[in-house]
Amino acid sequence: EMFTLGEMVTATQSCPDELLELLGEHLNYTVKVVSPEEEDKKLLAQFGIDLEENEGEQESRPPVVTVMGHVDHGKTKLLDAIRHTNIVDGEAGGITQHIGAYQVHVEHAGTDRAVTFIDTPGHEAFTAMRARGANVTDIVVLVVAANDGVMPQTIEALNHAKAAGAPVVVAVNKTDLPEANPDKVRQQLTEYGLVAEEYGGETMFVNVAAKPRIGIDNLLEAIILTNDAALDLKAPVKGNAQGVAIEAHLDRGRGPVASVLVQKGTLRVGDSIVAGGAHGRVRAMLDESGNRIKEATPSRPVQVQGLTAVPSAGDVFLAADDDRTVRQIAEQRQARRRAAQQAARAGRTTLENFMDKIAEGKRANLSLIIKGDGAGSVEALEEALTGLEIPDEVQLRVIHRGVGAITENDVNLASASSDDTATIIGFNVRAEGRVRDLAERENVDIRYYTVIYRAIEEIEAAIKGMLKPEY
Ligand code: GDP
Repeated sequence: EMFTLGEMVTATQSCPDELLELLGEHLNYTVKVVSPEEEDKKLLAQFGIDLEENEGEQESRPPVVTVMGHVDHGKTKLLDAIRHTNIVDGEAGGITQHIGAYQVHVEHAGTDRAVTFIDTPGHEAFTAMRARGANVTDIVVLVVAANDGVMPQTIEALNHAKAAGAPVVVAVNKTDLPEANPDKVRQQLTEYGLVAEEYGGETMFVNVAAKPRIGIDNLLEAIILTNDAALDLKAPVKGNAQGVAIEAHLDRGRGPVASVLVQKGTLRVGDSIVAGGAHGRVRAMLDESGNRIKEATPSRPVQVQGLTAVPSAGDVFLAADDDRTVRQIAEQRQARRRAAQQAARAGRTTLENFMDKIAEGKRANLSLIIKGDGAGSVEALEEALTGLEIPDEVQLRVIHRGVGAITENDVNLASASSDDTATIIGFNVRAEGRVRDLAERENVDIRYYTVIYRAIEEIEAAIKGMLKPEY
């Protein structure tokens, strides 16, 4: 049928959505393209679960804060310092646990206020979670070292905060250093739309020194004030818990442990929960001080034991009424994940259909992994290949190079590449049987050469050989 539509495709090739819709029409079907999120929503609906539902009495919840900024500007030190403001000497529990987030308490206008901090500094975790649709951060603390000023990653972090619509509090750090110039930081950031309150703007800037732990209370105060001015955070406290996994790993003694941030409802020991493709019953919950707790309400991070598998950071978790429901949801998700992985493998192209793709006039990205018997030959090959004159619609990158046999690692790297085609070039080196099997399963192309010019010739042909003629 595809051929009659004028599409020369093979059975394992992935097709654009529009083509599938066209095919549907041709066969008198209506094809609807559904995103993975929509699909998951439908799955949950089968069990009567609606994540958007917000019934029940809403109560105020603490803000969740992420610390971002340029490398070495003091994010880690600041998170340490904030955590320490709250530990009273000789307090019970004692051992600090890194569970991916922690909560501190601040005395503000006579009331006790809580603030939750995500314990992974930087924007990688933040963006990874956002990419998965999990928006956990309410407020961003942007750390800028006063001796260094605004740097590229400062702006990058600021842009992430803006994209997420999160208000920013600027922590001007390292003000203990003689060369510190906190006013310059304020001035620099005006250019990026962050105008300090003292300059008539709306952003709170706080001078701190994370290492000697100076100004931390003022920073916490600024977070509370920003929260109260810009946000009105509420969540239902009753009902089955819902939230996001922020960190998870396999513990030798305790099995899979996952740190989760509760966003709605109350999570209790004994609850049946599902997080991504993992499910189970909450056997125990620990807080950031290593204390066992029985329940967790919105914005509270806890470490949970009792899952059957390790979820991924950013996976939504939810509690349901019984074990059967969570098991079925987890199983269906696993099945879908497997199907998607298989499809991705099948869709990966080899060097041959890379040519076809270009012939169709599409943009195409080719990534290469070069392995060879000596540093000199690998370097020569890389230089020659990256020096090729290539057309605009093609992008060629060498994602890895090295001396020695082709390993499983190389294959995994190629198969994880987001490019259309990742090809491994073996120059006077080979892949073992085990590695070849993996490459076959993952549909990764391995090409062997013994003369440099043959390798160059072939890659060049793949890139140029079948270029669509221009008229
Ligand atoms: P990150 O990369 O942003 O997490 O930065 P770190 O927290 O690891 O800090 C980088 C370096 O700056 C470390 O050597 C810290 O000891 C130092 N540092 C952090 N905060 C301060 C501060 O307030 N004053 C001074 N003098 N040094 C600091």
